[in-house]
Amino acid sequence: MDLQDTRGSRPSEGWLHWLSSVTDMFAYPLRTSHYVELVNPLWSTHKLQAKVVDVWDETSDSRTITLKPGANWRGHRAGQHVRIGLAVDGQHYTRTYTISSSPERDDGCFTITVKAIAGGRISHHIVRKLKVGDYIPVGLPQGEFYLPDASPAQPLFITAGSGITPAMSMVRSMVSQQRMANTVHIHYAPGVQETIFGKELREINNSQPHYCLTEVHTNTMSENDPARHFSLEALEKICPDWRERD
Ligand SMILES: Cc1cc2nc3c(=O)[nH]c(=O)nc-3n(C[C@H](O)[C@H](O)[C@H](O)COP(=O)(O)OP(=O)(O)OC[C@H]3O[C@@H](n4cnc5c(N)ncnc54)[C@H](O)[C@@H]3O)c2cc1C
Repeated sequence: MDLQDTRGSRPSEGWLHWLSSVTDMFAYPLRTSHYVELVNPLWSTHKLQAKVVDVWDETSDSRTITLKPGANWRGHRAGQHVRIGLAVDGQHYTRTYTISSSPERDDGCFTITVKAIAGGRISHHIVRKLKVGDYIPVGLPQGEFYLPDASPAQPLFITAGSGITPAMSMVRSMVSQQRMANTVHIHYAPGVQETIFGKELREINNSQPHYCLTEVHTNTMSENDPARHFSLEALEKICPDWRERD
């Protein structure tokens, strides 16, 4: 399974490509990278793989997976996603997950945060079965929805459940870069225990004067409460200046 988009490889890697094209002549009909992969899958250059180095339960049905990507990885921008490949019951599947860590993370790893959805084949496998030491094929980061280089003036994030992942990467990035913009974040989750990144979000809310979090815990509200679901009325109440925000 090859999920790799080779665009964006660094010019300094040119000599490596030259060297491998020479050694490839001796490796024919395979390529040198196929043999290197047997020693360490992260060193292979014909496909990009990542090693699971940590798993962390966010809630009872969601998990953050920390991945160490191989040689051809290039960094992501906060908000971008990756495709990952998995073999389940003898069949290959690919799924897309947003990178939930910030680009400023300096250990060469990135995280995805996955919620196991009812009847979902791959999300269940990732949350329940993927373990430290496993290798999985990954693609390069992609997507046009990312944090711009210049600070957005007044971001407004409206998120729910595992849909928080791109906003989380952006908020983490603004914290790391010490450039938190005047941010309003409205997040919907069933309850405190079911809130992915809940503890960290509350800590950021307490420590960052320009970040204002409103959590809506839908299971604690009555069925008829209109605030249970996102609406223009709710938005007007929580964030009256929403029209001026990005
Ligand atoms: C850009 C992007 C970013 C994303 N980021 C994240 C993220 O950060 N975190 C995250 O958790 N998810 C994310 N997703 C969603 C993720 O890609 C998967 O779609 C999700 O994990 C479900 O995959 P699955 O294999 O478990 O479900 P699938 O097996 O594909 O099933 C999906 C749904 O269809 C139903 N279904 C399946 N087969 C049938 C059938 N034959 N008949 C009727 N119904 C059926 C299932 O019950 C389930 O509800 C993202 C998606 C995109 C496009």
